[in-house]
Amino acid sequence: MIKPDAVQSNSIGGILEMMNTAGFRVIAMKYTKLTAELAGEFYAVHSARPFYGELVEYMSSGPIVAAILEKENAVADFRALIGATDPAEAAEGTIRSRFAESKAKNAVHGSDSDENAAVEGEFFFSKFERF
Ligand code: GDP
Repeated sequence: MIKPDAVQSNSIGGILEMMNTAGFRVIAMKYTKLTAELAGEFYAVHSARPFYGELVEYMSSGPIVAAILEKENAVADFRALIGATDPAEAAEGTIRSRFAESKAKNAVHGSDSDENAAVEGEFFFSKFERF
């Protein structure tokens, strides 16, 4: 997902270019906006964390780009491409190092396992939206 801060800063194109250059293929993609309820559902796994309310508010604050990407070893390679959660700690050349504002407003989301990637893909896309 390209998060609201990165959409707001006109970084969609730059981020997609980095994904394509790194060898990720787009299977599904949409430009949409989460309600607070949907953002809360997407991040339900973090509901006990102290920043959950802030996270839900931020993720529903503006439009996002959701996508399913395909590649060998996609989860690990995508997390390497996006970099550490906090852009101050993200390695040079990563998406977050280049585009993220802060640990909270950190430009992109990447699934942390194949299982969660499947769940998150179902969250956004029907089978008629995948190619
Ligand atoms: P990720 O897997 O690198 O995205 O990081 P996490 O799973 O730990 O956290 C999920 C998301 O919650 C992050 O990408 C941030 O947008 C947000 N987040 C993490 N830590 C904080 C924090 O301390 N404060 C706030 N407001 N948001 C945070």
